[in-house]
Amino acid sequence: MCGIVGYIGYREAYPIVIKGLKRLEYRGYDSAGVMLYDGDNIKLSKTKGKVVDLEAKAANEISTNGTIGIGHTRWATHGVPNDVNSHPHVSNSGDLVIIHNGIIENYAPLKIELIKRGYVFHSDTDTEVLVNLIEEVQKKENLKLGKAVQVALNQVFGAYAIAVFDRKNPDEIVVARLGSPLAIGIGEGEYFIASDASPFIEYTSNAVYLEDGEMANIRLHKPMKVRKIKDDSLVDPYIQELQMNLEQIEKGGYDHFMLKEIYEQPSVITDTYRGRLHANEGIIQMSGVEDNLEKFLNAERIIIVACGTSWHAGLVAEYIFEEFTRIPVEVEYASEFRYRNPIINRKDVVIAISQSGETADTMAAIKLAKEKGAFVYGVCNVVGSSISRETHAGSHTHAGPEIGVASTKAFTTQITVLIMMALRLAKAKGTLSKTDFHRYLQELEIIPEKVKEALETDAKAKEIAAIFKNTQNCLYLGRGYNFPVALEGALKLKEISYIHAEGYPAAEMKHGPIALIDEHMPVIVIAPKQGHYDKIVSNIQEIKSRSGIIIAVVTKGDTQVRGLADYIIEIPETSDALSPLITTIPLQLLSYHIAVMRGCNVDQPRNLAKSVTVE
Ligand code: GLU
Repeated sequence: MCGIVGYIGYREAYPIVIKGLKRLEYRGYDSAGVMLYDGDNIKLSKTKGKVVDLEAKAANEISTNGTIGIGHTRWATHGVPNDVNSHPHVSNSGDLVIIHNGIIENYAPLKIELIKRGYVFHSDTDTEVLVNLIEEVQKKENLKLGKAVQVALNQVFGAYAIAVFDRKNPDEIVVARLGSPLAIGIGEGEYFIASDASPFIEYTSNAVYLEDGEMANIRLHKPMKVRKIKDDSLVDPYIQELQMNLEQIEKGGYDHFMLKEIYEQPSVITDTYRGRLHANEGIIQMSGVEDNLEKFLNAERIIIVACGTSWHAGLVAEYIFEEFTRIPVEVEYASEFRYRNPIINRKDVVIAISQSGETADTMAAIKLAKEKGAFVYGVCNVVGSSISRETHAGSHTHAGPEIGVASTKAFTTQITVLIMMALRLAKAKGTLSKTDFHRYLQELEIIPEKVKEALETDAKAKEIAAIFKNTQNCLYLGRGYNFPVALEGALKLKEISYIHAEGYPAAEMKHGPIALIDEHMPVIVIAPKQGHYDKIVSNIQEIKSRSGIIIAVVTKGDTQVRGLADYIIEIPETSDALSPLITTIPLQLLSYHIAVMRGCNVDQPRNLAKSVTVE
């Protein structure tokens, strides 16, 4: 949650910080703030609202010159989003300024202690406690900023990525991380600080991603010093060459990132299987799986841990893994798994799925599974992320940066990776016939073409969106492989259009949700030809008998459902197991258009943030 940006160098910091905050706004956007230092003065401007609101306010409030600056876009955890609670926060002396992503869990006792010592608090945030704790340590022990930050951090619990500036020693910014990401861009005579590398890719392609429990002193004209917060030992920072380019993080002519990302799916699915899927040779090669084949083959069980859309991809994987490999699979919400003392054995393989690779609950689930001796495999999109580092092995999806808060291309590329894994293991176990194995490989190879075809449902989705944009409720039904797609379809609608939506396995409808059906209830039924077609046709009849409005996603050329449904969206035919990659496309488009028509902020829906780094 939340984006942090910093600059120290020879350029004007303000435009760099503001542009960086806009790029990071997907991470949190309920307030924004900036601090600039011009050699003499600290200048602070902060406000509830978006980065554009900050720009408007800062223009009237401060002179925006200065070659040192830090900025923050907030996703509130402690204290409502208002001007006072916005970051940066300043210590009581006015010397220290902090931006913080995360939560200081023991802020309450620390605050009481600091109040006893005469500190005054203006905000409700945990962050203001931290900056005053650093000040208290600094004063009491007469320490330089870096040392004071270190001592203070050893007294707090929780998660943080912070950047701290000290007016008394103004050619330095101190940063630290635990649980929240922090990247440092290294230029010639300048440094950039950010939650991810997007704010600085046009300035440098050299970056250091701090590891958990590390801090760095970033000084003008000096090499950066990285050390461990716990024991002060020096660390040799690993400088990475960034893969990202500017085009990937801009809208490229689309109205919203979400739409761009929906349309990128054919190419990113191809990117995800490129070099791994060799359909003609009948080979799937994924180094993470290859190197650990024995672990997978000896697995008595696979446990998938994830949150949100990634959890839905996990559910699709459950169907696929069990069908193809006959290995029992359980899918768990990471947040539940980590707190319920789960039974994990050494012969379990845990697959953790997360787009950002930073999801706090998934990270905690990984740690727990590792402690219990399980082999942990990561599936995430962001290279260098915490999950890709913390897991024993893994496979990246190659979706490119996903900026729209509602996940689209991450979902389909996660499924692509998971299908390939299941196929590779099925081959090794001999649980799939040779003919089926080859057929799936061939089919996966042409899936991007079919996704492209499915994108042609855009106009139809828009037409249907115009009819149902004012509905209050919506039901999504699917069976088998498409049950998780129903959940995902409902989630997409909820999160960006604020319409109440539920996803259900179609047959389960009879056990409750059918009571909701009347002539006002749109029911979206995923009914492709392959799969449990006859069963779902019966479910459609049941809805029809209760006057529900049926919007059906069907295979091209379908006649039976066409005769029953009120609205039809046609998609290309594909086998049952691969169908989620296709059926999900019109549902993404439908949610997108409904949200746009309702005037919702599609890329930054209320209360949400892209990368959930708090539990
Ligand atoms: N806990 C801090 C706050 O509520 C930081 C939240 C964030 O990561 O944006 O202000």
